[in-house]
Amino acid sequence: MRLVTYRDIGQVRIGAVDGDQIVALDTVAPDMLSLIDRGEEGLARARAALERRERTTPLASVQLLAPIPRPRQNVVCLGMNYVAHAIESDRARGREPRLPEFPVFFTKAAHTVCNPGDEIPLDPQVTTELDYEVEFAFIIGRAGKNIAREEALDYVFGYTIINDISARDLQSRHQQFFKGKSLDRSCPMGPVIVTADELADPARLGIRLRLNGEMRQDSHTGDLIFDIPAIIAYYSLGTTLEPGMLFATGTPAGVGLGRTPPEYLRPGDVMEAEVDGIGTLQNRVVAAT
Ligand code: MG
Repeated sequence: MRLVTYRDIGQVRIGAVDGDQIVALDTVAPDMLSLIDRGEEGLARARAALERRERTTPLASVQLLAPIPRPRQNVVCLGMNYVAHAIESDRARGREPRLPEFPVFFTKAAHTVCNPGDEIPLDPQVTTELDYEVEFAFIIGRAGKNIAREEALDYVFGYTIINDISARDLQSRHQQFFKGKSLDRSCPMGPVIVTADELADPARLGIRLRLNGEMRQDSHTGDLIFDIPAIIAYYSLGTTLEPGMLFATGTPAGVGLGRTPPEYLRPGDVMEAEVDGIGTLQNRVVAAT
């Protein structure tokens, strides 16, 4: 299923996309996190509702929101998880390129999540080095700890796209990722969650970002240094995963920081973050008022 959270005449609902229609799933669960909490039983009821097609709304008539508008905890992110991006980042900061031996984890504050189509504010008093990062993201479906790599994909509810908007100057100034990754509206998410059963091989997807129509990032999820089973195995070691947790798996090469000279976002820029089988997440940068 392709699950969405949407606003229809002022009402926020969840639904499943069926061609150019959305089938409402609010008889199954009031919101996406509640649906995820219901596990297999919730998914089975959602599938049945989709089959019945009782209450449909044209997709074009609603506003799509982030599939999980407010996660229960911070979004867990991976840094330096594509070889070419790890190299471009180290070079841009004048360091000798070195690939990580273990996954580099950091988080983005939960409040940073915003919707497909939302405008991303750029305030030059806050940052002059705002950058894009297309990322393949996954959502945890059930609780677990110390999960073996071989079983890790059983814990995935589904997949979506995140644009990990990053203020490079704040990242450097504070010597830690968190602040530079947690500006308001710095985590556009969506447009849909594709459930795990519908995305047979998450390691075979094209991933790209176009800036004002020009291809800036163009890679493949098979190029992740630490793949999804490895991310789950490492992160769940001594740390309990909870249903609804979001992981962003890292960005490929081609960010503004990696260009010579670096080129950062400007008001009016349109970012289209895309992953095969999921869709396109579009957001525009605007001058903050
Ligand atoms: Mg990132």
